[in-house]
Amino acid sequence: MFESLEGDSHLITEHNRPEGLMRQEAQMGLAEDFQEFITPKPQPCMLGQWMGSLSPADLDAAETVLSSGLAAPKAVLLFRKYGFAGEATVVRKHRRGECNCVSRG
Ligand SMILES: [Zn+2]
Repeated sequence: MFESLEGDSHLITEHNRPEGLMRQEAQMGLAEDFQEFITPKPQPCMLGQWMGSLSPADLDAAETVLSSGLAAPKAVLLFRKYGFAGEATVVRKHRRGECNCVSRG
């Protein structure tokens, strides 16, 4: 059952791609899948998880708060109004890049 599901999704990809591009992407896909299998995925910290649940507008505002230099305890007070359940230490670590969040530029 699992194998037939994979076959189906592969077929859909092949139908939508020109042949040369498809072949290249299939190789890339396999390599990336392999990397995913052997690379442990770190969970984002509480702040990262919370930000992942925000609407794009609120996420934008949260990023602004984080980069504004507002003291962490005050940022936490603000974020808690919108569902954040963590402590100031989480915010400090996130700001310093000491957490597991990977998708920040
Ligand atoms: Zn984080």
